[in-house]
Amino acid sequence: MKGRKLLMIPGPIEFEPDVLQALGMATTSHVAPNFIEVFGKSLELMRDVWNSPKGQPFIVAGTGTLAMDMSVANLIEQGDNVLIISSGYFGKRFKDIFDGYGANTTILEAPLGEAVSLDLIEKELKSKKYKALTITHVDTSTGMLIDPKPIAQLAQKYNTLSILDGVCSVAGEEINQDEWGIDVVLTASQKAIGVPPGLALLMVSQKAMEVWKNRKTPIPNYYSDWNNWLPVMKAYEERRPSYFGTPAVNLIVALETSLKIICKEGIENRVKRHKNLAKAFRAGITALNLEILPQTTDIAANTLTAVYYPKGIVGAKLLSKIASNDIIVAGGLLSGIQTSYFRIGHMGSVSPNDLVAVLAALERSLLELGYDVESGKSLQAFQGELLKAK
Ligand code: PMP
Repeated sequence: MKGRKLLMIPGPIEFEPDVLQALGMATTSHVAPNFIEVFGKSLELMRDVWNSPKGQPFIVAGTGTLAMDMSVANLIEQGDNVLIISSGYFGKRFKDIFDGYGANTTILEAPLGEAVSLDLIEKELKSKKYKALTITHVDTSTGMLIDPKPIAQLAQKYNTLSILDGVCSVAGEEINQDEWGIDVVLTASQKAIGVPPGLALLMVSQKAMEVWKNRKTPIPNYYSDWNNWLPVMKAYEERRPSYFGTPAVNLIVALETSLKIICKEGIENRVKRHKNLAKAFRAGITALNLEILPQTTDIAANTLTAVYYPKGIVGAKLLSKIASNDIIVAGGLLSGIQTSYFRIGHMGSVSPNDLVAVLAALERSLLELGYDVESGKSLQAFQGELLKAK
């Protein structure tokens, strides 16, 4: 479609037509039998996507920040020690939420573009009793990917709950929640889950549910309190009507549609597709002599890429040129370096053709701004890498 813009920011993303169509259906009652079935099925499908057959799923109207808030409000009590392993803006947000609930937080950060070492994490866990630690699986502000598996193992060793911010990773990066022993994996609808913004999604381990049940003080937040939501989730899963706050009916119908699409592709295939596309995309970016923010490829996200503007190129001008080529990408987010880099989302139903379009628009825009690069180089690198992956 002429003039149609391709939304390549790290959420919201381009959505499948079937998902958008599901959103437009006539809204039914939240206790109608057809909706009860959709809600119940969505909870069940979440377990497949999270690889958490034993987890307790929650679907609540709200954003990713609400999912973060819920994990804190329910699991943390005043004065609890919490370790935040941060790799950007969203690690700091988690710290702010914990601080708001009176937790005693410690934040571990590595130099920009590097991951906090496991040794440092273990040293900190040894130093005092931590109730919980948090990991941002993919920090959307930096494009950094943190491997949660060894950190979750450390958390188990020190009897600490592990909470994974998977807002920019669930259904895009590899997650085996039960096998890896992660206690909470939370996300939002608008990223790799593939549904317009408005749903907070969590999967909570039985261990964390026990910690929640045995807490000594009341939960100081009415909307986030699992005492209100757990009976609703249990009822929908047992296909019984229930009510606490009116569910986002149309969004949940869209969620079921998207979860079915994800499960049809198969979560392993989907993760592999994200990995292959991200690797090829990074090859395209480096062929333009551009630098990506994570310093090594093992910590570069497969759901988005953060790229520094080259010397001599004004960021705002580049982004508006790319936009005039009908591709929407995102500017920087991390304070201090906000104007020195930009971000491209490539998650959900992203295809090789979408990324060809991004690289072509980026290369053309750079050339128009006087950047010295051979035309076609990024596409050549992208195609070459993609063919190798086949
Ligand atoms: N965590 C991460 C890693 C995110 O990328 C975001 C959103 N960009 C959030 C948390 C917050 O989610 P929301 O904007 O839906 O509240």
